[in-house]
Amino acid sequence: MPLSVRADLATLPDYVPGRKIPGAIVLSSNEVATPPPESVVAAITAAATEVNRYPQMANDDVLARTAAYLGVPDDQVAIGAGSVALGQQFVQAMCAEGQEVMFAWRSFEAYPIITQIAGARGVKVPLTADYRHDLDAMAAAITGDTRLVFIANPNNPTGTTLHAAELTRFLDNVPDHVLVVLDEAYREFITDSTVPDGLELAAGRPNVAVTRTFSKAYGLAGLRVGYSVAPPEVTAAARKVGIPFAVSRVAQAAAVAAMDAADELLARCRPVAAERERVHAALVDMGYEVPPSQANFVWLPLGDKTAAFNEHCLGQKVVVRAFVGEGARVTVSGLTEENDAFLAAARSFAG
Ligand code: PMP
Repeated sequence: MPLSVRADLATLPDYVPGRKIPGAIVLSSNEVATPPPESVVAAITAAATEVNRYPQMANDDVLARTAAYLGVPDDQVAIGAGSVALGQQFVQAMCAEGQEVMFAWRSFEAYPIITQIAGARGVKVPLTADYRHDLDAMAAAITGDTRLVFIANPNNPTGTTLHAAELTRFLDNVPDHVLVVLDEAYREFITDSTVPDGLELAAGRPNVAVTRTFSKAYGLAGLRVGYSVAPPEVTAAARKVGIPFAVSRVAQAAAVAAMDAADELLARCRPVAAERERVHAALVDMGYEVPPSQANFVWLPLGDKTAAFNEHCLGQKVVVRAFVGEGARVTVSGLTEENDAFLAAARSFAG
C-alpha cells in the first residue's frame, strides 16, 4: 500500500502570512514598527550565548515572571510558542475527534486551521452587519458537542470589540461543558474603557481562559512567545499537550526582559492608538466604510474591490493583508510616514 497522508488535509486552508516585498512598507501582519528596547536586545544577546543548552522545559522563569506581572497564581499560567500555539493546545486539550470548536467568521484565520488539525469540527458563526461577534447567535449555536468557543477581543481582522456587559452576559449563559477562550492578542492597543479586561471577567469562572501575546505590543513577533491564564485543571491539560521545549531559551529571556520594560513598551502603544483614530477618520473622509477599531489595524470591507485595492497598494509599495472578495486589513504603524503612504494609496484608489 502506498504512503498516504491524512486525506482531510487537502481541505485545510493555508495560513497566508503577510507578503514581504523588498523596500515596501509592510502593513500586513499587525507588527509594531519599532525594534525592541536595548534592554530586551541585551537579554536576547545574553541568551544567545547559551543556546547550546535546551531551554527550561517548564518555562519556569518566564512563567513565574508572567504570573507575578499579572497577579495570578503560577498554576493558572501556561507559556507557549506564540498565543496561537496556546490556542491549538486548548483545542487539543478539550476536543476529541469530531467535537466542535466555535468561532465567529471572519475572525483569526488560524482558528479553523488549528481546529481541523486537532480533528475537531469548526463551527463558524457570521459576524453581525456591523462586523462584531454575534453573541446571541453563538450562544444559540452551542450544542452538546461544543467544547470550545474562541472570542477574539478585539477581533481580527475587523478590529471590533465586545463590551463588558454583553460579554459578561454571554459568559454567564455558556454551559459548563464549554471552555471560552478570550483571545486578547491586541489588548494593549485598546483605549475604550468599556472593553473589559479578560482576566477580570475570567476570574473565578471554571470555564474561561485568556490568551495574550508578546508578539504585538511587546514587539517580539519574531521570537514566538505568548501566555494563557486559565483554571489550574485546564492549564495543566494545555501544558500537557504542548510540544516539549517549544519556547526557545532566547524567547523566554526576551519575554522576561519585555515585562521588565513594560512601561516603555506599553507607552509605545499610545501613539499607535492615536494614529489608528487618525487613519480611521481619514479613510471615512475618503468615503470608505471602516468599522471602529480598538486594535493596531483597520478593516476595509471592500468586497469585490479587495483584489484591485490590494494590487493598487502593492503598486504604491504598501503591503496590506487582503482577504479577496471580503476586505483588506491594514496595520496601523507607529510611524506617521508609513500610515501617510498607505493613506495616499487609499486616496488615489478612491479616485
Ligand atoms: N490571536 C489573534 C487574534 C491574532 O491576530 C494573532 C496574530 N495574528 C494571534 C492570536 C497569534 O499571535 P502569536 O501567535 O504571535 O502570539
